Amino acid sequence: MRDFSNNTKDFGLNTATLGHNIDGAGAGWSPEEVIDLCAQKGLGSITFWDREFKHDAQHIGDYAKGAGIEISSLCRAPFLVGPLAATTREQVLDGFFRVIDMGAALNAHSVVVCVGGVVPDSHDMQYSLDQVSEIMATAAERADRAGVKLALEPLHPVYAGDRSCLVTIRDTVDMIEGINHSAVGVAIDVYHVWWDLTLGDQLQRLNPEQILGYHLCDWLANTTDVLLDRGMMGDGVANLRRIRQAVESAGYQGSCEVEIFSSQNWWKRDPEEVLDICIQRFQNVC
Ligand code: ZN
Repeated sequence: MRDFSNNTKDFGLNTATLGHNIDGAGAGWSPEEVIDLCAQKGLGSITFWDREFKHDAQHIGDYAKGAGIEISSLCRAPFLVGPLAATTREQVLDGFFRVIDMGAALNAHSVVVCVGGVVPDSHDMQYSLDQVSEIMATAAERADRAGVKLALEPLHPVYAGDRSCLVTIRDTVDMIEGINHSAVGVAIDVYHVWWDLTLGDQLQRLNPEQILGYHLCDWLANTTDVLLDRGMMGDGVANLRRIRQAVESAGYQGSCEVEIFSSQNWWKRDPEEVLDICIQRFQNVC
């Protein structure tokens, strides 16, 4: 395993940690201000959310490059299926293509995909996953032409109804094998997989280049909100070292991205204070 005790280059900031993805939350910093702070702290990469841009993705990509910061991902594709997805397949693909093109303009390595919940009235996980696979296969062609990877992120089973019928790393690897396209891989998020004892074995089924991201936070034992009460690394119950060992044993050497949704705690603090604590935890408990 990599030694992070004096490392900041392998630390990536997901701007959700600063509350930027929700209107009215966080300090309201511009993408440029966030990039400047990350560069000042010696970080290697940032992941932005599509809601942070209008038509200025190219400018932000160039600005980050000038500051020596890579854009690891763009969050995220619209939901592909389920109750929160657009009504028609055409609308879903239009939205998906828009985010892929934005990711390319930003020079992001990947676009994160949270697939959406079970198809309404289907009562059928497998059917829902099959629909996702079809859409992903089409989008993979577009992503390939744009030079962007698509990172399927399985979510914790608590989200299966509305946000993600893709809930295990096993199903995710099955889907990646089925789609069989070089533009499609996986993003592993501690929040969603910390409970899964099969993580290491399932990741061994992938090639290293199919692991496109690793997201850090913690699961609070007394969580009050499964969407917006994520914990800072070290404050929860996840075995962060063991999870990273599983990810790195499968060949991943990319950035470790801190992604903490926390409307009642971390989003209320000063961004620099949050970032300093993230770095300290990253170096000591991750
Ligand atoms: Zn994530």
